[in-house]
Amino acid sequence: MLELSRVTAGYHRGTPVVRDVSLTVADGEAVGLVGPSGCGKSTLARVAALLHRPDAGTVRLGGQTVRGFRFRAPRALRTSVGVVFQQPRLAADPRLTLRELIAEPAAATGRTRELAGRAAELAEAAGLAESLLRRRPHEVSDGQLQRACVARALLPRPRLLVCDEMTAMLDASTTAALVALVERYRAEHGAALLAVGHDRVLLDRWCDRVTEFPSPAD
Ligand code: ADP
Ligand code: ADP
Repeated sequence: MLELSRVTAGYHRGTPVVRDVSLTVADGEAVGLVGPSGCGKSTLARVAALLHRPDAGTVRLGGQTVRGFRFRAPRALRTSVGVVFQQPRLAADPRLTLRELIAEPAAATGRTRELAGRAAELAEAAGLAESLLRRRPHEVSDGQLQRACVARALLPRPRLLVCDEMTAMLDASTTAALVALVERYRAEHGAALLAVGHDRVLLDRWCDRVTEFPSPAD
């Protein structure tokens, strides 16, 4: 599903923060990536999610070599990856209600009508009551907002999910609920997962295998 091959990536032509890293996630596989803070995990996650262009190396997604990153990647490729970040407040447009937030990717897929019903189902599966869906990000807790962000990521039926410290800000019960939501989706759709974090215990429980970062080519 995902093949990162000898990826080097950094910021503004500075010293690379990811150096010559290779990583593969098979179809339907769940791979964890652990490592200390600042080692480049988020950067690699952004490369995997087509949000950050590597300085060297290649990214293959579903057998296709990725050439354009961020807004330049073909729409079908972009919507085949769902991303959840650590801090939902940085990842949510403060002007949108949670209902609008969950439906956000529908516009990017051109499948608005088809996905409208699915947005309502996902909101329910994420444990968000109707009254919460009318609120905006500043009117809900981090946990409630992250529930909406996970629902948003699942909306276009991605074949790969990239979760970057998805539960780092959450309490134990919200963590369990969101891991269960992602796992239910993966079981139904055979989607792959790249879960990035610092909590080895959680990742060992969640993933088929866990890789230490930075890792030698695999
Ligand atoms: P991790 O997720 O393992 O904590 P990151 O990928 O977030 O690591 O960061 C790796 C390094 O890249 C850090 O030294 C960080 O300061 C730097 N970095 C991260 N994001 C940016 C950015 N947008 N601009 C410049 N440097 C950044
Ligand atoms: P970086 O993280 O170093 O900015 P990216 O891989 O994210 O590199 O960006 C790749 C290309 O996508 C860049 O050449 C940039 O011009 C373009 N790009 C980034 N953001 C936008 C945007 N909001 N709209 C259109 N093009 C964008």
